[in-house]
Amino acid sequence: MTAWSNYCLVAVVGGGAAGMMAAIAAAGMIAAEGVDRLGVAAPVMLLEKSDRVGRKLLATGNGRCNLSNQFMTPDHFHGRDREFVKALLNRFSVNETLEFFRSLGLGCRTESNGRIYPYSLQAAAVLDLLRRAAERSGVETVQHFDVKDIVPIGGPDDGFRVVASDGRFVLARTAIVATGGMAAPVFGCDGTGYLLLNKFGHVCTPLFPAIVQVKTDTEPVRGLAGIKFDGIAGLKIGSHIAKVAAGEILFTDYGLSGPPILGLAREIGSALRTESAEQVFIELDFLPDMEYQDLLGWLKKRGELDPALELSGFLTGLVHKKIGQAIVKRSLEKPLTLARPAAELTDRSLTRMAHFLKKLPIRVTGTRGWTQAQVTAGGLKTDQFNHLTLESNLQPGLFAAGEILDIDGDCGGYNLQWAWTTGHVAGESAALLATGTR
Ligand SMILES: Cc1cc2nc3c(=O)[nH]c(=O)nc-3n(C[C@H](O)[C@H](O)[C@H](O)COP(=O)(O)OP(=O)(O)OC[C@H]3O[C@@H](n4cnc5c(N)ncnc54)[C@H](O)[C@@H]3O)c2cc1C
Repeated sequence: MTAWSNYCLVAVVGGGAAGMMAAIAAAGMIAAEGVDRLGVAAPVMLLEKSDRVGRKLLATGNGRCNLSNQFMTPDHFHGRDREFVKALLNRFSVNETLEFFRSLGLGCRTESNGRIYPYSLQAAAVLDLLRRAAERSGVETVQHFDVKDIVPIGGPDDGFRVVASDGRFVLARTAIVATGGMAAPVFGCDGTGYLLLNKFGHVCTPLFPAIVQVKTDTEPVRGLAGIKFDGIAGLKIGSHIAKVAAGEILFTDYGLSGPPILGLAREIGSALRTESAEQVFIELDFLPDMEYQDLLGWLKKRGELDPALELSGFLTGLVHKKIGQAIVKRSLEKPLTLARPAAELTDRSLTRMAHFLKKLPIRVTGTRGWTQAQVTAGGLKTDQFNHLTLESNLQPGLFAAGEILDIDGDCGGYNLQWAWTTGHVAGESAALLATGTR
């Protein structure tokens, strides 16, 4: 590669959702300005360290790609500054995102919970159309380009030398770092992006895994692995219920999973960093539609109506048989075998049973970590970036987009929307700066 042929106006580092969107938006903006006038062979270069762009995208939404959500409000996002989120969502909203995808030929469908998917329910459709859009708009995609350094050249506005680990480099007037966070390293994210920006004075808030399964004491979940139920999980920190989430909860051999648990994981990660592990519990409500007093009455009647009923089947009809047996065992005042009759249950055992069916406490010991996490909580401090353009306040011409920033969203399409929004804003802003239009 000669020094000239690797010259571009905008270099995008990282070919994930945010990077692809940034490259397409930048190329679109440059085309609108008239690329011929600018005399560069490749106005935008997309630099990806692995062998393909968008690998993580293929895994999103269980292969269906939950690309956004109809209910897009800043309170679905977390980080130090929700106003930052608000300002950016106003610059490139859900409607504009859907319009963008429509213009690429992607139809979308919205489920009753607000989650938006490609009409075909195939993540591959989203990736194919993004790749085609990048190609058609003249983005030059370079794979196996593992960026190790971004070096300013000349004066503050002269641009950058973007250097790969094998010594190749690209010269660019502006650069956008969209290297993702630490979550799911199998898709190429290992946190090198933070280091690229640290040298310019950018700092991160503490990083920890979010949207991830939860590890618990194994004793209460032993023997229940693989069983699911529709219920409510409450995160209890000390004596205070910090957050509740409803839906399908799954017992596993390490603890708990399922959408409500993934939804609590961020708060759990945060609590475990500050509280003693002895203080963090998940309380399970197996019967959200029943009030405690009604349930207690039901249990008492059950014993009266069928005193010979074996304890092993006492809760069958209310909950999964194995869950029922685990709760009966835990409720008994003295160790009875489950072959004993219901007549031997004491009032106190029945009260405990009703309590555990509504509030079974399970101590949390951790989360399953970066390999299983879908998202990184924490990231580059947002007050070091312009909230309208995503340009660094510390280094002119340098931008950041996507998960690398200190913003993460709830499960449900919020994280990809963050990638689309920030990618689009950074891409257009970098192109305007590089073409001298801003
Ligand atoms: C299994 C799974 C399912 C998910 N499902 C959903 C979902 O349905 N809906 C939703 O909203 N969110 C979902 N997410 C989260 C969402 O995918 C991410 O938040 C989003 O992809 C982040 O986009 P990004 O472009 O910032 O980073 P990434 O998508 O992580 O892309 C970063 C890219 O940068 C590259 N890179 C890293 N370092 C370098 C370097 N030094 N040089 C060059 N390239 C580099 C990486 O290889 C990667 O391709 C899911 C995540 C996972 C793991």
